Amino acid sequence: MPRYEYACRTCGESFELSRPMAESADPASCPQGHDDTVKLLSRVAVGGVAAEPAGGGGCCGGGCCG
Ligand SMILES: [Zn+2]
Repeated sequence: MPRYEYACRTCGESFELSRPMAESADPASCPQGHDDTVKLLSRVAVGGVAAEPAGGGGCCGGGCCG
């Protein structure tokens, strides 16, 4: 399930939610219970590492790519 990052405009908290893509635009309450949140354009990790710079080294040796 994709993870989405949100920021609360009431308390400034940012938080992530794992939710179905169909619900990505639904309102999300921050951990403090505020409803005035915005969805951030963040890394959407669907099906692997999307924006990993090439030549990082060591990543695939650690099993994180597999
Ligand atoms: Zn909040």
